[in-house]
Amino acid sequence: MSNHFPVNRDLFNEVMVPNYAPSAIIPVRGKGSRVWDQQDREYIDFAGGIAVNCLGHCHPALVSALKEQGDQLWHLSNVWANEPALRLAKKLVDNTFAEKVYFCNSGAESNEAALKLARRWAQEVHGTDKTQIISFEKAFHGRTFFTVTVGGQAAYSAGFGPKPGDVVHAQYNNLESVKALISDKTCAIIIEPIQGEGGIISPTDEFIKGVRQLCDQHNALLIFDEVQTGIGRTGDLYAYMGLGVTPDILATAKALGGGFPIGAMLTTTEIAQYLKVGTHGSTYGGNPLACAVGEAVFDTVNTPEVLNGVKAKGKLFTDALNAINEKYNVFSEIRGKGLLIGAVLNETYQGRAKDILVAATAEGVMTLIAGPNIIRFAPSLIIPDADITQGMLRLEKAIAKIAK
Ligand SMILES: *Cc1c(COP(=O)(O)O)cnc(C)c1O
Repeated sequence: MSNHFPVNRDLFNEVMVPNYAPSAIIPVRGKGSRVWDQQDREYIDFAGGIAVNCLGHCHPALVSALKEQGDQLWHLSNVWANEPALRLAKKLVDNTFAEKVYFCNSGAESNEAALKLARRWAQEVHGTDKTQIISFEKAFHGRTFFTVTVGGQAAYSAGFGPKPGDVVHAQYNNLESVKALISDKTCAIIIEPIQGEGGIISPTDEFIKGVRQLCDQHNALLIFDEVQTGIGRTGDLYAYMGLGVTPDILATAKALGGGFPIGAMLTTTEIAQYLKVGTHGSTYGGNPLACAVGEAVFDTVNTPEVLNGVKAKGKLFTDALNAINEKYNVFSEIRGKGLLIGAVLNETYQGRAKDILVAATAEGVMTLIAGPNIIRFAPSLIIPDADITQGMLRLEKAIAKIAK
């Protein structure tokens, strides 16, 4: 603690690259679903670090896993295997469709691995011209150059020069648009089982099953990006389980570490064999600290109490939002699944999502947005019901101010 000197929000503009525009407050500590800033003002956290803090802040099981591993072994590199990584991989395999796991450090990296594996698989199994990747408009898969190119928002991929090739975009929930693009040259379709950044858009049953069928007809792999939907967010361990559609490759990150950076790509033995020694890697991937925390997250979330709780708490959220809407008429729709919820602003309030977020912060509740017209909620999966009630009172005050 010897070199700590006082810092404030102005220092951000002075020393940080200007790619973010963080809020005016600086939070300094958190416990459960409450956070306190430098002035010791309290906030109720409906943002969950963007679907990351699935067990709130400083959950005792995670803190003790981190401390225990911190006294034991921090890092080896992949020149050696380590116990926490092997244990977490075994649990992921035992509880999902997957038979093999690749660890990395983020969502973008888990998708990057998925896409590179799909390309490798196609080259080796089917030949060099099976390279097309189909993604969706408004999709978000991360910020590496491959993943922004595959993502469906031009604003994130334009302006950096030539992009990785043979990536095309269909429309979410429009099976005809996928049929129009897919052929035997398609190597993979990558899709979020609920579009998160794109606006909390759920697939229709017919669409998601149709996508699986089209992949099978054309020998293409189906990649589910579950970076936002995974680890209990929708009330299932992974969202694919609730859809009744199994992918060939799955990307998971965010909540997997509960706040400690980790990502993983899950797949089958058959497909995994094409990522042979030397084809891909990451210095930190499978880091013992990250995997020890990940194991504690997994054990805590993957219980009927927590997963059923997500469904019940999701209903509390949507009920409260509907009640606010009855008074102030600001939303055209409340949508999502479990504790991934979007409140869509109606015609009168177009473009005001950021204003509501700022007003909510001032009232002591942290929220998220998904584009200019949607307030997004991705709180802790175990947020106490009383915090939901109190946070909604604060949100209502913020909305009352905007609605006036
Ligand atoms: C957040 C997110 C990513 C990117 O994850 P990072 O950890 O920021 O790289 C990828 N896909 C989806 C669906 C996400 O929500």
